[in-house]
Amino acid sequence: MGRVDKGLKCSVESCKEDALRSLSYDKVSNIFKLIKKHRRAYLCRRHYKEWKKATKSNRELERLRFS
Ligand SMILES: [Zn+2]
Repeated sequence: MGRVDKGLKCSVESCKEDALRSLSYDKVSNIFKLIKKHRRAYLCRRHYKEWKKATKSNRELERLRFS
């Protein structure tokens, strides 16, 4: 799970927060409406938390893969 360069904004439509995390686009586009198609999706802290909640069932898998 990548960290994000300064200055990038959250990819969720209508969100203007700075991005903290980058995730694969397809994983995030299932949960949120994103501004436009990128290879990566960028999430601010709030949306990252929401995303984690929404994908709780997959989280264990992710953790194993990235730890
Ligand atoms: Zn956001």
